[in-house]
Amino acid sequence: MWDVMILQRIFLTSISSYEYARRGVDFEFPVPDTCPNPECLMPIAPKKHGFYERTCLDFCYRGRILIRRYYCPYCGKTISYLPSFCLPYYQYSLAVIYLVITYYIELSMSYGRIRREFRDRYPELQIDMQHIEFYLLRFLVNLHVIQVGLRQFWPDIALPDFGLDIKRGAKKILHIVNDGFGKIHTFSQRFFEQCKRSFMSPLRNILA
Ligand SMILES: [Zn+2]
Repeated sequence: MWDVMILQRIFLTSISSYEYARRGVDFEFPVPDTCPNPECLMPIAPKKHGFYERTCLDFCYRGRILIRRYYCPYCGKTISYLPSFCLPYYQYSLAVIYLVITYYIELSMSYGRIRREFRDRYPELQIDMQHIEFYLLRFLVNLHVIQVGLRQFWPDIALPDFGLDIKRGAKKILHIVNDGFGKIHTFSQRFFEQCKRSFMSPLRNILA
């Protein structure tokens, strides 16, 4: 049941998507020190198991990147290891998605205004309205799960009571994330490790 989610992992890196893509197979991919399969957890580094390609649409790079795969000989599972500028199942980079969220939540831009900001500032990105809407809805729908995740880091943290003003709640959550983790990459990676899902994953996955 966990299979699809858990065997993807994220490693924290400050390298840009452009530099990561440029280095290709020469990038020094970190090696997980244990098998992440909860039914295995063998404390031995899994073996290298080739790569797959995925798309990354970022500010500084748009194109294919290599994702390192590992294989655990004890349980037979394959593990893919994503750099922290990516989110599982999203083609746009974490930085792009986070900027959409920030424009909406922090700067109260309308969907149309966000679309125009991107078109004017980053014309090469070509992000459309459907993506903008999708990211914002997903983030807002996930707020509760993000709160539950934050409690796992700081059990005593005071979290906002959303009430009916979900946008205000979202703003407070963003502040907690920014204050607590500094960078969205760090939050995203640590959340994934802790909760075994990304903060932008569809909700049904946590019930699986
Ligand atoms: Zn294993």
